[in-house]
Amino acid sequence: MTVLLSGRWSAAEGERWARLLHEAMPEEQWLLQPPRDAAEAAAVEVAVVANPEPGALSGLPNLRLIQSLWAGVDRLLQDPTLPADVPVARMVDPAMNEAMVHTALWAVLSLHRQFFELQAHQREALWQAPPQRRAAECAVLVLGLGELGGRTAQTLAGLGFAVHGWSRRPSELAGVQRWQGAAELAPALAAADIVINLLPLTPQTRGFFDAPRLAQMRPGACLVNLARGAHVDEAALLAALDRGQLRHAVLDVFQQEPLPPEHGFWRHPRVTVLPHCAAQTDPRTAVPQVRANLAALRAGQPLMHRVDRGQGY
Ligand code: NAP
Repeated sequence: MTVLLSGRWSAAEGERWARLLHEAMPEEQWLLQPPRDAAEAAAVEVAVVANPEPGALSGLPNLRLIQSLWAGVDRLLQDPTLPADVPVARMVDPAMNEAMVHTALWAVLSLHRQFFELQAHQREALWQAPPQRRAAECAVLVLGLGELGGRTAQTLAGLGFAVHGWSRRPSELAGVQRWQGAAELAPALAAADIVINLLPLTPQTRGFFDAPRLAQMRPGACLVNLARGAHVDEAALLAALDRGQLRHAVLDVFQQEPLPPEHGFWRHPRVTVLPHCAAQTDPRTAVPQVRANLAALRAGQPLMHRVDRGQGY
């Protein structure tokens, strides 16, 4: 099959992915540049993509699969020229899942045990031990219980935290108190000391943390956003932190990335900024997923991790 590789990435990153994909699937014809003519465009059956430029996947009449190398497909689906009838599969990478659980764990432990405050105390040579609470006394709400949220919730439950989880549809997760749908969101938010956002970015979840929703959170609660910057109204979040409604925010993702140097988050004493590194696709585990989906396509088998384009995730 002819496979088009298309991404918005540095030349070095693009070359690395091209080399690894080619090494793992030498039987495919890899097209590393946009098709030069109609014949080349007609040959393309699969596009392996990393947030390609808008329009990059139009004009491919025989395209049968769009395979994303990234987990989030929000930017990909925003391209109005994306062929409507071609299935989109996203990346579900075990190494990335593991990294996300670790980042969430670090954030929760740091917030629960006040380690961010202790870091600030060190800079002032202040010797002051905080009171020690037990994990069971800390209610953590995970928003979105998919690949990343589900694992995060279960790991935290295994450590003894009082874990709550909110999603669209009902499902069981051992040790996790479940909440579903719009009606159950406000009580779930009000019950949580720490809220971890692991929702996909869709038309329904864009701007999710606006001023009214932040006001529904328990006074003194903490927000951990590991999903997408566009979930959060950043001015409303800064205002909620400044008036003490929220105690701390751990933010990995932002409306504009890289976060501009003058942004209020950088130097805010109760904001911890990460440079969108909570969990990255690891080619060593991701390339075999691509290979498996190409094999499924060739064999006429169901594709793995197919995106519901109507729902946007
Ligand atoms: P996923 O497997 O698609 O799971 C999405 C979850 O959100 C599901 O539980 C779904 O509910 C729930 N959900 C979707 N829309 C909802 C709505 N309107 N109301 C309530 N619940 C809703 O997603 P994932 O792979 O875990 O990814 C989660 C997020 O992490 C995405 O935003 C992704 O872009 C982001 N991400 C960030 C990084 C990083 O480094 N910061 C890395 C990878 C991914 P149902 O179960 O009912 O369908």
